[in-house]
Amino acid sequence: MTVNIKRLDASQSDFDSSLTTLLAWDDSVDHQVNETVRHILHQVKTRGDQAVLEYTKKFDRLDVASVSELEMSQDRLQQALNTIPQDQRDALEQAAERVRDYHQRQNQESWQYQDDDGTLLGQKVTPLDRAGLYVPGGKAAYPSSVLMNAIPAKVAGVSEVVMVVPTPDGVVNDLVLAAAATAGVDRVFTVGGAQAVAALAYGTDTIPAVDKIVGPGNIFVATAKREVFGTVGIDMIAGPSEILVICDGQTDPDWIAMDLFSQAEHDEQAQSILISPDAEFLNAVEASINKLLPTMERADIIRTSMTDRAALIQVTDLSEAATVANRIAPEHLELSVENPETLLQEIRHAGAIFLGRHTAEALGDYCAGPNHVLPTSGTARFSSPLGVYDFQKRSSIIGFSAKGADRMGRVASVLARGEGLTAHARSAEYRIKND
Ligand code: NAD
Repeated sequence: MTVNIKRLDASQSDFDSSLTTLLAWDDSVDHQVNETVRHILHQVKTRGDQAVLEYTKKFDRLDVASVSELEMSQDRLQQALNTIPQDQRDALEQAAERVRDYHQRQNQESWQYQDDDGTLLGQKVTPLDRAGLYVPGGKAAYPSSVLMNAIPAKVAGVSEVVMVVPTPDGVVNDLVLAAAATAGVDRVFTVGGAQAVAALAYGTDTIPAVDKIVGPGNIFVATAKREVFGTVGIDMIAGPSEILVICDGQTDPDWIAMDLFSQAEHDEQAQSILISPDAEFLNAVEASINKLLPTMERADIIRTSMTDRAALIQVTDLSEAATVANRIAPEHLELSVENPETLLQEIRHAGAIFLGRHTAEALGDYCAGPNHVLPTSGTARFSSPLGVYDFQKRSSIIGFSAKGADRMGRVASVLARGEGLTAHARSAEYRIKND
């Protein structure tokens, strides 16, 4: 069965509206899910551990007498690391090292400076006390998500990283536990879904409340994160995965087809787009897609994703390709061209940018070093990859000298009186010298 991929042409008058239609996706709020999640959150908030146990039994078919039985000890994590196959352990440790090395460069420094009159101003950077990490585990296991979420938190200096992961039927995934050991996660609870998010947000007798919850999850998890935002911070609400490839027509079409598949295989709503000035090349990639699809394990998901949401876009030149890419603001952008660094200068909006024919986006998912938690659905216009800065916050430092208080007190007094705020004005005026 051939996949018919949409074709768009940037020179056509209806291109703008076709692109808008292509980028739209069904993010409609499911009221039934909302109601279920609100109920779960309320139950965990008011009944704590008991509600966590009941929902774990109901949704994950795991029946235990206390939440402490759901905690994996550090010894258990270490044991997982020691028992996984050596090649998996080596791969985990290599990936972790590169992710750590990259994120260490993101650490922010506190800074201060002094005015001429001795007034001190600055910014103090402080890590969060406690971060919660949701690792999905309903249908598949995601050790790479453990590394990508936990390592920046530890590099930021977060004192305690608390991870939650569902274990349906009590089946524990050793690779996930091994990744937790490698990343230095402090505590792990085998709890999932909205009940796990609630426990992290409100705290229970056994699961500590955290300051921020990060990590992907299904609709119940995403809805719960949205609901608890305000009580705790959250990283983002991620939409379906996306890849946009700009190619000059000189890369092997099979490579490009597989790069497009690499995001399409995530789920049916994932979006894969190829832009090229070479019409023949677009045809060649379409042929590769149809040749390679039957060889894919997740062929059904890829077929649906490619049929519903993929596109091949013809442009006049690479500069126009960059303009279209900026309009899309994709999560992942591959510049599969001869001089990627030249084209990079024209790119303004993308979560992660992969330079050159040899840079498969898939490496970024696992082990390149940068984070794989990236803004989706065009939000790269205003947001950034998950990083160390998401686990640190800034306090402003203000220390007036007597001379500075005299000088700026006069300014504050005028503005405060202009606003009718007398206490503000008098508070500043007390510190003005009257000689
Ligand atoms: P999950 O851990 O997100 O969800 C499992 C939990 O959902 C269960 O523990 C249960 O509590 C809850 N649940 C299931 N059915 C329910 C119901 N009817 N009512 C209430 N709660 C219910 O695992 P998953 O389901 O496998 O989903 C993982 C998701 O995370 C996928 O959508 C996947 O694409 C996404 N993901 C995204 C990234 C990324 O980087 N963006 C990475 C990995 C996974």
